[in-house]
Amino acid sequence: MKIYNTLSRQKEEFIPVEAGKVKMYNCGPTVYNYFHIGNARNLVVFDVIRRYFQFRGYEVSYAQNITDIDDKIIAQSITEGIPTDEVTRKYITAFLEDLDKLDVNPPDYQPRATQYISQMINFIRALEEKGYAYEAEGDVYFAVEKFAAYGKLSGKKLVDLKVGARVEENEQKRYPFDFTLWKKAKPGEPKWQSPWGEGRPGWHTECVVMSRDLLGETFDIHGGGNDLVFPHHENEIAQGEAYCGHPTVNYWLHNGFLNIEGEKMSKSAGNFFIARDVLQKYPAEAIRYFFLSKHYRSPIDFNEEIIQQSLAAVKTLYSALKDVDYLNQQDLPEYSEAQQKLKEQFLDVMDDDFNTARAIALLFEAGKEARNKDNSEEDRLRFARLLVELGSVLGFFRNLAEKLSAGEDISGKTASLIELLLTYRQDFKKEKNWQWADKIRNDLKELGINLKDTPQGTEWGIDENAKV
Ligand SMILES: [Zn+2]
Repeated sequence: MKIYNTLSRQKEEFIPVEAGKVKMYNCGPTVYNYFHIGNARNLVVFDVIRRYFQFRGYEVSYAQNITDIDDKIIAQSITEGIPTDEVTRKYITAFLEDLDKLDVNPPDYQPRATQYISQMINFIRALEEKGYAYEAEGDVYFAVEKFAAYGKLSGKKLVDLKVGARVEENEQKRYPFDFTLWKKAKPGEPKWQSPWGEGRPGWHTECVVMSRDLLGETFDIHGGGNDLVFPHHENEIAQGEAYCGHPTVNYWLHNGFLNIEGEKMSKSAGNFFIARDVLQKYPAEAIRYFFLSKHYRSPIDFNEEIIQQSLAAVKTLYSALKDVDYLNQQDLPEYSEAQQKLKEQFLDVMDDDFNTARAIALLFEAGKEARNKDNSEEDRLRFARLLVELGSVLGFFRNLAEKLSAGEDISGKTASLIELLLTYRQDFKKEKNWQWADKIRNDLKELGINLKDTPQGTEWGIDENAKV
């Protein structure tokens, strides 16, 4: 298996620290808001990388942190007028819900920064003792000039950084690129006792300490979005290596940017998409399809039209399964040579730095053969079986049985029954029995049937987005 390592800027053969095991860490959210569609890409990409290692027979330990103390959280608590722990509780709940809605398998570990304060303090003290950190009026900084390899991940050099650098002026720092390990608390801010007074840890320290604790002193993969290469991951490397004197991560993986119609997503530009809102309109598989149809390192461009197209593509895959009546098959036949060959191709493209774009093309190949009436019944079933096996590696086909049966068109007797329920609902409304009128509406909605009251009467329709 070959994976692209940001550190060496090339594809490298994957050799795990421990045979048969993969230990990976992916930088998680700072929980001060709902996550956006760009964050969703990172979550799906690393979900697929993890699934693929598992498919390859590795035992995977996957950790993704939750940053639950940060300046942004404090700012949000002021905006919303609620305490910081209420802010984090609210957005952690939302994060976990949305993760599930995206069909992302929950990580094995979801450490929260506030659970690791004492380890972080010990870590910072050790850096201080080794001469890499210094205190200045209650703040503690990492002295980047002490770490000769600083810049090796991002390719930035301290000399270049100096020229035209835009770092906030801070007279306490010995050097403009020294970064905060411990931050002194201002009045009213959340704080913990430390040898340097009351304060809180810096973000860059959180990930080093938690990944070390959960995955060990050297682990296989550290991931994140492209925007984290500098300074976050550069600073993680500096601390980790200063602390133990050797590299702590073997492969650094970064997913590419997501743009909105060619432009950078930003709240001020009014092109900001919260994943939760997109998931309200489209099923997870359409969104996953959109992300995975491009290589994870390439930039992708988001717009609604492309999600519509992705949804249509996913429906094509489902139609192949419906065509062979996949759900009602008792025994699916073993693969023959043709399916084995396709499966090997899938492994080849995924072994090549997780080329999901090509892997998806192979899913279509399997789907096409499953629909092909020139193939024998057995062969069509074999291809359908392959489609489900490989599709699941990319996180498609969750709750397959439910989805296949829910997508049926409503006609004939069923339609008459719905009409009958609507006349009952009309009667309830006349009697001002809102409770029962609402119950009928809600129960039908549960079944994927939406009602719309118009001046001409009530219309009903199948919720197109609820089905794939
Ligand atoms: Zn991190």
